[in-house]
Amino acid sequence: MSDHQLHEALEMLRESGVRITPQRHAVLEFLIKSMTHPTADDIYKALEGKFPNMSVATVYNNLRVFREIGLVRELTYGDSSSRFDCNTSEHYHIICSSCGKIVDFHYPSLEEVESLAEQVTGFDVSHHRMEVYGTCDGCKKVKQH
Ligand SMILES: [Zn+2]
Ligand SMILES: [Zn+2]
Repeated sequence: MSDHQLHEALEMLRESGVRITPQRHAVLEFLIKSMTHPTADDIYKALEGKFPNMSVATVYNNLRVFREIGLVRELTYGDSSSRFDCNTSEHYHIICSSCGKIVDFHYPSLEEVESLAEQVTGFDVSHHRMEVYGTCDGCKKVKQH
């Protein structure tokens, strides 16, 4: 499944005329295999052993390229650093208040909210965000001990 996704992502890069450097390939592979919504820093730390000359800025630049061609979504949470999501299908997130872990879940898109907001405010609605918060399984276990 993730090999297939990686293959498709590489095809998309090729079609967009983006050069596939070994670092770019590694960043993309990490994103697709991790499924953890990592920050640029997380990716940097995971790959610095393999690419000693790579900087966090390089990771950011690669992520920006991926975002521009629609391969990843950038999730911003206030002033903490952005997280990157290679699942670009419609989905929502549940976030652990203790460790910050983000997990995907699917729920029918709340389109009524958008049309209601449009009617009530006269705005042209572009999108909405919904996040659910709680304590993840791992953190629950730690608390019980
Ligand atoms: Zn947690
Ligand atoms: Zn996600």
